[in-house]
Amino acid sequence: MNLLTSSPEIDFHECEVCQKKLLIKKAIECNDCNKYFCKLHIKSREDDFLVVCHECIRKRIHLEVSMEISSQIIEAKSELKSLKEKLKLSKQSLSSLDSKKKSIISNLQSKSKNHEENIEKLTSQYLQAKSHTEKIIPIEEQLQTNLSILTEKISELNKNFNKNERKKLEQNIELNLMKNEIVKLQKEVQDQSEKIKEYIPYLMLRKLACGTCRTKIKKHFSEEIMNGYQGRNSIIASVIYENEKKVSRKNMNGSERISSIRESIAGKRPENDSCNCRVF
Ligand SMILES: [Zn+2]
Ligand SMILES: [Zn+2]
Ligand SMILES: [Zn+2]
Repeated sequence: MNLLTSSPEIDFHECEVCQKKLLIKKAIECNDCNKYFCKLHIKSREDDFLVVCHECIRKRIHLEVSMEISSQIIEAKSELKSLKEKLKLSKQSLSSLDSKKKSIISNLQSKSKNHEENIEKLTSQYLQAKSHTEKIIPIEEQLQTNLSILTEKISELNKNFNKNERKKLEQNIELNLMKNEIVKLQKEVQDQSEKIKEYIPYLMLRKLACGTCRTKIKKHFSEEIMNGYQGRNSIIASVIYENEKKVSRKNMNGSERISSIRESIAGKRPENDSCNCRVF
């Protein structure tokens, strides 16, 4: 370009930086901008070893830096976006946590209120129970005293009962002894009455027997008659009665005596004089 614009008679290039006039041979062309520079203001690039001017190096560095920065910006933007999303989520969760917290707080408040009410209730119940207990204690003491008195009485009653039982037992033994005695006595009475029956028939026999037999009977039973039984039906009494009758008959006159004997024969004796009475 400079070559085209420079006058043909002067074959020079001018350094774009220091405006030093250079022979065409000595002027170095920048590979990027194709301008000419002196050797002080141009150099080989480190990455591609191409010869470029300082401005192009600077531009290139700037481009690289700006590209890096823009890529960093993109990265940062995406990071920011993700951070924003995270923030949004955090806000949402925070708000949900907040609502949860509110509900928990209100729940806790209502529970605390309930607790307070319960405590109040329990306190009043406790006080009531305490007053009841205070009332009950003397009653219990009284009951304890009564119980001990009752226990004493029971033991006394038991003692008495045992005493009574023993007494009853003794009495029972005595009663049994008496019963045995009664049985014995009854047997004796029975025996005696049997014996009496043995003697009593004499009264009947005497009426039925003939004179001879009567004498025999009297002789035979003389001992029993003498030791006979007391009372109305005593054989002795009947014998005495018979004797008295005899005496009164002796004192009668002849006809009276005969009729009395006849009477006595008709009432008491068998008709036949030969003994048929069979009392013996
Ligand atoms: Zn220069
Ligand atoms: Zn250049
Ligand atoms: Zn006879």
